[in-house]
Amino acid sequence: MVKAYVGIGSNLGDRLRTCADALAALGRLPGTHVLAASPFYETEPEDGAGPQWFVNAVAVLGTALAPGPLLAALQKMECLAGRAEERARGKNRTLDLDLLLYGDQVLQERNLTLPHPRLHQRRFVLVPLCAVAPDVMHPTLGRPMRELLAALGPGPAVRLVEPGSARAGAAGGAGGAGVAA
Ligand code: ADP
Ligand code: MG
Repeated sequence: MVKAYVGIGSNLGDRLRTCADALAALGRLPGTHVLAASPFYETEPEDGAGPQWFVNAVAVLGTALAPGPLLAALQKMECLAGRAEERARGKNRTLDLDLLLYGDQVLQERNLTLPHPRLHQRRFVLVPLCAVAPDVMHPTLGRPMRELLAALGPGPAVRLVEPGSARAGAAGGAGGAGVAA
């Protein structure tokens, strides 16, 4: 059983529902259960994504799946959520699942890099990751996640989705059209 950390993201459709459903589906993967999950955050687009704000979270899995089959399962879940048709639409996506860490494994294959090559640069990954695993070490940088987050300094906004808030359900970003007060 290995601890794997999965980044969950959505900026199209009912973002909060999509992320919550994905979290539940992760727990139904063979040989896998969800050990912990971060709160949901609303995050300002970066990496050229946008303009729609994302909902992001991180799940901690205990899994008997090897990294390749686990990534394949994540990609199948993305496709079921409609991801295949979204390729032409840049970084906007109904569901994005990234394998952030798989134990302390370091891997560089055509389709899979571990740890995820951009996790240490992304506030929308490090903030939720630090909510569940601040002391986990980055396998190649040799620093705990909380230090990597502190090293980022100020950047794109990452804020907690208030429990029970209707805001996160609507696409269109913080304060976007059609958002309930
Ligand atoms: P990102 O989520 O980083 O913005 P994408 O989801 O568009 O990027 O990238 C998906 C591609 O990244 C896939 O082709 C996948 O094979 C590759 N990839 C490499 N390493 C990983 C990883 N650790 N987790 C998820 N996808 C990965
Ligand atoms: Mg991805």
